[in-house]
Amino acid sequence: MTGELSGYDAVAEARSVRNVLDIHWSRICSRLQTEVGEVEYRTWLKQISIGPVDGDEITLNLPTRFLRDWVRTQYGDRLSALWNAELPSIRRVELQVGRPEPVAEPEGAADDEVGSADAAPAAGAVDERVAEARSELNRHDLAAPLDPRFTFDTFVVGKPNEFAYACARRVAERPSSPGFNPLFLYGGVGLGKTHLMHAIGSELTRGGKVSVAYMSAEKFMYRFIAAIRSQSTMEFKEQLRSVDVLMIDDLQFLIGKDNTQEEFFHTFNALVDAGRQIVVSADKSPSDLSGLEDRLRTRLGCGMVADIHATTFELRISILESKAAASGVPVPAKVLEFLAHKITSNVRELEGALNRLIAHANLFGRPVTLEATQDVLHDILKAHDRRVTIEEIQRKVAEHWNIRLTDMSSARRARAVARPRQVAMYLAKQLTSRSLPEIGRKFGNRDHTTVMHAVARVTELMERDSAFAEDVELLRRMLES
Ligand code: ADP
Ligand code: MG
Repeated sequence: MTGELSGYDAVAEARSVRNVLDIHWSRICSRLQTEVGEVEYRTWLKQISIGPVDGDEITLNLPTRFLRDWVRTQYGDRLSALWNAELPSIRRVELQVGRPEPVAEPEGAADDEVGSADAAPAAGAVDERVAEARSELNRHDLAAPLDPRFTFDTFVVGKPNEFAYACARRVAERPSSPGFNPLFLYGGVGLGKTHLMHAIGSELTRGGKVSVAYMSAEKFMYRFIAAIRSQSTMEFKEQLRSVDVLMIDDLQFLIGKDNTQEEFFHTFNALVDAGRQIVVSADKSPSDLSGLEDRLRTRLGCGMVADIHATTFELRISILESKAAASGVPVPAKVLEFLAHKITSNVRELEGALNRLIAHANLFGRPVTLEATQDVLHDILKAHDRRVTIEEIQRKVAEHWNIRLTDMSSARRARAVARPRQVAMYLAKQLTSRSLPEIGRKFGNRDHTTVMHAVARVTELMERDSAFAEDVELLRRMLES
């Protein structure tokens, strides 16, 4: 009896471990799907089934050796990283040829759905995969489709991106002009490189006479490798060399991928020699892209190199204004300012935050307010938060009311100076753990009773004057940790 019981427990336990792994795996799969795209995912990654975990290693099964090798070289590192991010105890991924792992059954246990569910792999799977890969390749255009939202009209121009914008416009108007070929756009994540490339593509294809191929460097590599696997490299090369404009996004991805780089280099030369336009983007300038072959790097720097700088507060406001206006949902200027202050890293995040606010407003039919913003974006804002100091409070408050920072500790008592100083004291009390005497000292050695008075005065004013209250709230939220 006892033996049977523990046998049953072992099965139950093995199953629950499997369930947990399955949940992690399905999350990893959906990540992979968005990262590599539907076609690549279906062709290669969907064939993976998870096997057992042994210590810090998980086994993943693929039905054929060909698939196993391919997935290992192309996705091995990514799979390990994703598993490790899901389950930190897993540090390595072992790729094996095998069937999906059935849950261990104790001796004598009856057959059930877990054991019998797995069909044997089809014979001739390699040929099938090659055929499948080839038909996938043919079914889908060589290039990725252009996003209709990314046009010159929807691109907001400001100091940090005006040069890149002007170059992109120029290429869209007169492709293959000497001096602008290749056009090399570079800048940090989410600053508009892809947007500008799509804008060039849309503009050029509008007339219908120019053929444009846009793809990420990653896609370029997948296509290239898939072409090799399906023995159709000639087709691939011909297709590429027949376009008028070739755009390759995120070229940094080709670092370390020597064969693909080589192929790109030849394609590049063939196209430029034939008077076609190349547009390339990367996260760094050609000279900083170490790991790229020298001759490719040299050629990339031969045309026009344009960088997109980090956004300024002004540009962030303009972008938010334009996106808010396009959405049709009224968003108060204070909310836009707040977002532009808080989310400074890149435009994608800024846009994401605004979109979420707008979606909430639409869903619940509530107006967008500073309160609601704080609530709805709680998680995003928290990630951007940090400890606030009295010096920062003084600086922000002085900036807000346009007074000198030194007036925070000066003896001047004019209202225009004294009121902001009181607000700064109030915020110091609210946002830091400093005592009243400590705060007083930071404000030109004032007495703690002065600070107490400031706190009381600001509280009272906030109750009476809602515009003032909103100002203080805005400052508080900007500073809050
Ligand atoms: P990158 O390719 O440089 O990482 P993207 O072009 O994908 O960045 O831009 C990220 C998001 O931000 C996109 O939705 C894009 O439309 C938007 N975006 C970036 N810069 C601007 C801009 N100047 N005006 C309008 N939208 C922008
Ligand atoms: Mg991009």
